Amino acid sequence: MQLSKLLMQLAAIAVGFALVTSFCVIPVSADNPPTPEEYVEYVGGDARILPAGGLKLDGDTQLCGRRPTVLDPNLDDYGAAYPGFLIMNPKLLSRVSTPVKKWIYAHECGHQFRGPDEETADCFAVQRGRRYGWLNDTGLEEICSFIAPAKGDMMHLGGSHRCVYMRRCYADPSVR
Ligand SMILES: [Zn+2]
Repeated sequence: MQLSKLLMQLAAIAVGFALVTSFCVIPVSADNPPTPEEYVEYVGGDARILPAGGLKLDGDTQLCGRRPTVLDPNLDDYGAAYPGFLIMNPKLLSRVSTPVKKWIYAHECGHQFRGPDEETADCFAVQRGRRYGWLNDTGLEEICSFIAPAKGDMMHLGGSHRCVYMRRCYADPSVR
């Protein structure tokens, strides 16, 4: 009884976190992250694991070091990151343009290499897009429109503020 109450509270915390980040769920506690296999077993449904290099977005192979990707059509967000693997929601991703898809993957990849900070992950993603050639000014505007509805709070900057920062990162020749 008590355990189920605790689990419900944890779920409520996780949902609250998802709402403020709006397209990216970082687990509240990463002390003991699940393996991709444990994650798939836990969520069930149609979730499946793609090995590194196995994910294609609109025909292009996506890489984040050697990290695998879990495709989870029931994820309550576009993407998520656990230490060691990425999670993408193919159902939601199918609704956005190619640069936005790749930016979401690169943002989650940014968390793998740069930690939980959202602005740092944003910067990592747009600089990667510029270097790899899949992001131009038009794509950047599509990303800004995509995150525009995200409201800020004490911890997270709103979408428009994030875009100011991303535009600066995109234009910055030094890689962060
Ligand atoms: Zn994020």
